[in-house]
Amino acid sequence: MTVQFSIAHARSGRPVHRNLITGGAGFIGSHLCDLLLQRGDAVICADNLSTSSMRNVRPLLNHPNFQFIEHDIRQPLHIDGSIDRIYNLACPASPRHYQRDPIGTMKTNVLGALNLLELSRKKSCRFLQASTSEVYGDPEIHPQPESYAGSVSTTGPRACYDEGKRAAETLIFDYRRVYGLEVKVARIFNTYGPRMLEDDGRVVSNFIVQALHGRPITIYGTGKQTRSFCFVDDLVRGLEKLMESPPAVTGPFNLGNPHEITIEAIAREVLACTNSLSRLQFKPLPQDDPKRRKPVIAAAEQWLGWRPRVTLKDGLAATVAYFTLRMADRAASAPSGGSTRKVRRFSPNPLNLAHER
Ligand code: UDP
Repeated sequence: MTVQFSIAHARSGRPVHRNLITGGAGFIGSHLCDLLLQRGDAVICADNLSTSSMRNVRPLLNHPNFQFIEHDIRQPLHIDGSIDRIYNLACPASPRHYQRDPIGTMKTNVLGALNLLELSRKKSCRFLQASTSEVYGDPEIHPQPESYAGSVSTTGPRACYDEGKRAAETLIFDYRRVYGLEVKVARIFNTYGPRMLEDDGRVVSNFIVQALHGRPITIYGTGKQTRSFCFVDDLVRGLEKLMESPPAVTGPFNLGNPHEITIEAIAREVLACTNSLSRLQFKPLPQDDPKRRKPVIAAAEQWLGWRPRVTLKDGLAATVAYFTLRMADRAASAPSGGSTRKVRRFSPNPLNLAHER
């Protein structure tokens, strides 16, 4: 890790940036689009809509500083004009989704990073990679500091994602060494909040949807395995802080909430938050499911001045409210149907500054 400067700096007077966010219509990406637009920046959101939705960015489509491009990062991306920042968040992130097309997942991680690093080089702009706690695999060290090299299966069902993200980190640091590119790497731990997909199999969304429907809460294994859940607002604030840190601050930095909780305990929190009478149903544990996960965030605290602020109770309440509205919305609009994927490309910008080939 290269960390040489404190990044505490005043926000006033900072220049306006033109940001490319790949995976910008996804759960985390769309919250990042919101944050950067609110800050006064311009945002080009590129997404192939494989596990994301136009619904997440629809309110932004009329914003003069926002542009959407449907694009798969496995193909080179061409953007007219300058870009100041590239945030690479494009990849299916839930085990169910990334295992559906494992070869495609590996290509997204490796070819995607390569294509965007080339773009970054061409534009002389900063590059931030959304890496993952999965680089630690099923960790033998607890909690996990950035210096831990990980315990990852190269052949198991999670390897396409874990090893793909690890290879991407390698590429990124080689681009820094070889070309002097300004790079940043965030290792994102379990994140939750509004705009999670309800059917991607992740634990928080699964439990909330099950609880709201009064269905059994599916606990895999004993429920004694742990995770540490970070609310999405905290996470995107951390990503922005990392991107705007001085050039020598590269990471990798763990970004996550160190509040560790068992899966059974989170089930009970969700039941309490939804007033649900759903029962717990124990199911087999998926292969290679990590037993414990908790970030050490001392480096992010020291070098980025970042730590999560939102409690699990408040974050769950906001997430439950989101899913409650989604379900009501779907019930109300069910008869007419209507695909959200009809919008392919939209820009209110008359110059049409970005395009794909
Ligand atoms: N999990 C569970 N029930 C579910 C979905 C997930 O018990 O309905 C467990 C899963 O086995 C894992 C934890 O919850 O131990 C977190 O799973 P998730 O897929 O959300 O994320 P990851 O495994 O990538 O941390």
